[in-house]
Amino acid sequence: MPTVNAYAAPSATEPLVKTTIERREVGEHDVLIEIAYAGICHSDIHTVRGEWGAIAYPQVVGHEIVGTVTEVGSAVTKHAVGDRVGVGCMVNSCGECENCLAGEEQYCLTGNTGTYTAVDRDGTITQGGYSTHIVVVEDFVLRVPLSIPLEAAAPLLCAGITTYSPLSHWNAGPGTRVAVVGMGGLGHMAVKIAHARGAEVTVLSQSLSKKDDGLRLGADHYFATSDPATFSELRNHFDLIINTVSAPLNINAYLKLLRLDGALVNVGAPPEPLPIQVFTLFNNRRTFAGSSIGGIRETQEMLDFCAEHGIASEVEVISADYINEAYERVMASDVRYRFVIDVATMA
Ligand code: NAP
Ligand code: ZN
Repeated sequence: MPTVNAYAAPSATEPLVKTTIERREVGEHDVLIEIAYAGICHSDIHTVRGEWGAIAYPQVVGHEIVGTVTEVGSAVTKHAVGDRVGVGCMVNSCGECENCLAGEEQYCLTGNTGTYTAVDRDGTITQGGYSTHIVVVEDFVLRVPLSIPLEAAAPLLCAGITTYSPLSHWNAGPGTRVAVVGMGGLGHMAVKIAHARGAEVTVLSQSLSKKDDGLRLGADHYFATSDPATFSELRNHFDLIINTVSAPLNINAYLKLLRLDGALVNVGAPPEPLPIQVFTLFNNRRTFAGSSIGGIRETQEMLDFCAEHGIASEVEVISADYINEAYERVMASDVRYRFVIDVATMA
């Protein structure tokens, strides 16, 4: 089995350290990818710190992966050596349940195989993208359009699809008012994609410190949630609110900002429950919903949409020895707007 360099969490409380891991031999349906860049998603931090539940250590995370194909199995038809490709949050699914057959593999009824911490089909624990190479079945490998710089493409594989999917499902477009709560990795992609779809976009951030960036990225309006006047001014206003916040919020205050038949879609994933006052839902026939990443077909559609509209992630490229500092900066909402690891620095 090939041994490759990686950065792993030794436990829930220790910093990530440089190490090596084993990747499986390239099977007939597999693609070997030399990873160029890996984004740092807040989910990586929730996971390694055990916030979503206990995991096995050491664990390599990272599910915003881009690179180049360096080997393909004998039965592979979708990818060739030299292709620019990406891998997101899933590396497999059953392929047979009604959700998989509908192209919604993220909702596989037997559970999709996550890019990290999941039990793989061969019984090993999957290890993610903070690593120089990965082996993935071809059906879960995406084509990265040539016009998108690789480092700016990496975050599309999670932050991009996680915001594209609900914006598409709830029909954000001309004539709709969309609010994005939280201007971080997911939030800044939601702003760009909602703007590209033609919606009127408002950012709801803790402060106005990122207002200039928000307007530059495509927002029409920008409000601070630390100001109580924001919640009275915007009452009954939005068709769609995408909440990307990684911590618990007073969700009732945000639900009140929905107009008739509006929906608040939670993509932020704090471990704590979010209590809901049902009368807030009765008013204006409001919907509170959730959404998880997106299917493979939709992820490819999102990458092609981003290429067509000339959008990608705003990134700060870091070397691997900066990962632990980057985690602290993400925790402090000090990210503009995605840290991306230059995996060559792990060689
Ligand atoms: P991130 O870059 O840290 O962005 C989160 C943003 O939320 C921050 O930039 C900040 O924006 C705001 N925020 C943070 N703490 C807050 C607090 N205590 N109160 C109010 N606002 C706060 O994180 P991310 O990578 O975008 O991920 C966001 C969440 O989505 C995480 O929980 C992650 O696990 C989850 N996620 C879910 C899916 C899915 O499939 N549903 C996929 C990927 C990630 P401001 O500074 O603008 O206020
Ligand atoms: Zn993610």
